[in-house]
Amino acid sequence: MELTNFPIFTFSNCQLMEIEINKESIANRFMRYVRIDTQSDPKSGTHPSTEKQKNLSKILVDELKEIGITDAEMDVYGYVYATIPANTEKNIPVICFCSHIDTAPDASGTNVKPILHKNYNGEDIALPDDVSQVLSPVVYPYLKTQIGGDIITASGLTLLGADDKSGVAAIMEAAAFLMKNPAVIHGKIRILFTPDEEIGEGTYKIDMKKLAADFAYTLDGGEAGSLEDETFSADGATIIVNGVISHPGYAKNKLVNALKVGAEILHALPPNEWSPETTEKKEGFVHPVRFEGIAERATLEFIIRDFDDEKLKEHGRRLKEIAEDVVNHYKGASIDFTIREQYRNMKRILDQHPQVVQFAAEAINRAGLDVTTESIRGGTDGSRLSYMGLPCPNLFTGMQGIHSKLEWIGINDMAKAAETVVHLCMIWEEKAEI
Ligand SMILES: [Zn+2]
Repeated sequence: MELTNFPIFTFSNCQLMEIEINKESIANRFMRYVRIDTQSDPKSGTHPSTEKQKNLSKILVDELKEIGITDAEMDVYGYVYATIPANTEKNIPVICFCSHIDTAPDASGTNVKPILHKNYNGEDIALPDDVSQVLSPVVYPYLKTQIGGDIITASGLTLLGADDKSGVAAIMEAAAFLMKNPAVIHGKIRILFTPDEEIGEGTYKIDMKKLAADFAYTLDGGEAGSLEDETFSADGATIIVNGVISHPGYAKNKLVNALKVGAEILHALPPNEWSPETTEKKEGFVHPVRFEGIAERATLEFIIRDFDDEKLKEHGRRLKEIAEDVVNHYKGASIDFTIREQYRNMKRILDQHPQVVQFAAEAINRAGLDVTTESIRGGTDGSRLSYMGLPCPNLFTGMQGIHSKLEWIGINDMAKAAETVVHLCMIWEEKAEI
């Protein structure tokens, strides 16, 4: 038989292909990454905010090169870019997978000691370096889904950093799988690791031209199967109260104290609605975050949140009316009211490209999981990326108890995240031709 005529079998269009992610390998990867301190710092003002984040970036570049990804590189800001070359003839969109390398400033990230608990039995786990830190299925019912599997915790003195090193590990393991299994057919895949997500600066220095991707997925979500395609839309509002100043000894019927007017504005906000402490699910809110000043002049800052952009604007108008109503009672006093855009609900962009979320849901199903679609009462790097021209929903990694000493993750979930990434690469190749 002529070898050239021998049919070459590929896994393209083969929906039932089993993707075997090596659990030991992904667990080891994850534990390697969390030991490196990559805490970001909101006060630093530099990019990256902490130089130590580059220690992980460098390791990731080395490991990417080891698995055969030759163009892996770290830029001066600590971002890692890498390409898994296409092995399809089809002309299909370039897909990017993105996770952040930094950990939150909320708890220490120095000397993280990951502990592997094999074959979790469903009981409480007291963390050895501070036994008052107890991980319990009563507080984290999701722990029960991990019985019989392996989980990883920190040791009691630090956070674990599953947020978002589980995403990093899942992308790295999926990349290693794709490089090792050329029979799995996919288009061009871009990998992006970002610093400073936890301080809201993860997208600041992304070079979109260099990234050159059409669609993206962040791996920065919680329970296995969850797919987040909606975030808040967010504005910030500032009210400056201009009082009327006069010598306090001779101020009768003249002085208007800006601090008192400011306090009255806060008091005029409705007590039983319209605030973070009185809303949930799809309800928006207005939330004062700073109040300072002197008798002459006071500044009030608010954040405004809603899933609906029209309602968001309405919240701003209502806040302005409330403030004007108050200040109108004071002769000579005035307010300056300004609103600035912070970020917008990614859903508006994702709805224009429905296949991005549909393919993700299908990939989750092929990994053997049910999809839970969720709305985030906050923002993600994905909401900013979506408005920077890169539609980007958020995928699960399994991370739990994030930003705390009780942070933990199940290895089965993390492996499912890697499996979902591989399926997604295949689905784009099967279905999206341009
Ligand atoms: Zn995160």
